[in-house]
Amino acid sequence: MLPQEIIRRKRDGAALTAEEIRFFVRGISDGGVSEGQIAAFAMAVFFNDMSVDERVAFTLAMRDSGEVLEWRTLDLPGPVLDKHSTGGVGDVVSLLLGPMVAACGGFVPMISGRGLGHTGGTLDKLDAIPGYCATPETEKFREVVRAVGVAIIGQTAQLAPADKRVYSIRDVTATVESVAMITGSILSKKLAAGLDALVMDVKVGSGAFMPTPEKSLELARAIVHVGNGAGIRTTALLTDMNESLAPSAGNALEVRLALDYLSGRARPARLHQVNLALCAEMLVLSGISANLEDAQVRLLAVLDSGAAAERFARMVSALGGPADLFERPDKYLEATPLTAPVPAKRSGFVSRCDCRALGLAVVGLGGGRTRPTDNIDFAVGLSQLVQIGDRIERGQALALVHARDDSTAQRAVQELLAAFEIGDVAPPASPTVYQRIAP
Ligand code: URA
Repeated sequence: MLPQEIIRRKRDGAALTAEEIRFFVRGISDGGVSEGQIAAFAMAVFFNDMSVDERVAFTLAMRDSGEVLEWRTLDLPGPVLDKHSTGGVGDVVSLLLGPMVAACGGFVPMISGRGLGHTGGTLDKLDAIPGYCATPETEKFREVVRAVGVAIIGQTAQLAPADKRVYSIRDVTATVESVAMITGSILSKKLAAGLDALVMDVKVGSGAFMPTPEKSLELARAIVHVGNGAGIRTTALLTDMNESLAPSAGNALEVRLALDYLSGRARPARLHQVNLALCAEMLVLSGISANLEDAQVRLLAVLDSGAAAERFARMVSALGGPADLFERPDKYLEATPLTAPVPAKRSGFVSRCDCRALGLAVVGLGGGRTRPTDNIDFAVGLSQLVQIGDRIERGQALALVHARDDSTAQRAVQELLAAFEIGDVAPPASPTVYQRIAP
């Protein structure tokens, strides 16, 4: 078999065999396939797509390019499950959902990513907690999952290394947007985590990774079909990302929000709805709950009893973070020296939000990266964000900017003023969860 013949067949629209795909992906890992060949392959897939069978073979081959975690030998008394999101702004769900599902009897080995473009990353949020080690040895990771029920860590070099190489080439060859490739990329890493079940949160809206609602739906369907085809029970929810999911966006600010949520001090409505919907879907999909109603009752119970907060605290201290984070957040979570309000230019109703611009404003403040090697400022970000539909008066703050200095603060203020539209009439209310996709 020759890589160029496989590329030629895909270029001409043929369906590749599982053997051809395995051969090509093996070459990606062992260097038998060159960077140019991977780029050509990605472009051929971009234009000619892959069938479900090809996508399953591609995903499994990428999974098998590295370590595949196994949990059976630990004899865990519950299912191994996870949630993955296509990313958004103010999306702190992972920090809430992992401990909540663990407190309900699930085991959540969550391998999360860094911020990408305008979207925040769970790993960056956890790095805002001093001492938290997001890159433990595999044995330590397994031990924390066994003992606490949840561990949230970063991608290791051993998990799906073929995807790492393909992704870096897609990134610079205008081939990121292929649904077949995105599906393989996301699922290969989730399959390598050895899950029984996966719930996918596919965002829709101005802050979503996919450019249109139709593309979000296409990706959700692809992930559900390929996930189930590859042997992992998978469903997806399409959820709203036309505005920040939470009233804060920024790493340390979102950790504070997670602490407030889990301890019951504040549960912002949109975040609560999306989080509960995803958690409940996980409990039903994995068989912990018989139906969504039962799942909701259990989830609210572990929030109210403090059991979910306790799981989060145990996870943080087991991975090297402070044992008293809930009690003394100000001691550990960095804050900026200044905050600046974003005063509304007119009275009216918040009618639209360019959510991507909110995420980019956080990046501009230093809360995200413009180059992979950039350091992040954990303290900066936005808080007290208004929501679409809110009635506001002229001069009222649309948000609070947390910045290091006045000039970056003022730049963010201008970006936020441009991101919000204020109209005379209240826009129709839109749901937070649009659709459930099952096989
Ligand atoms: N996230 C991934 O992990 N891979 C993609 O291709 C796109 C988003």
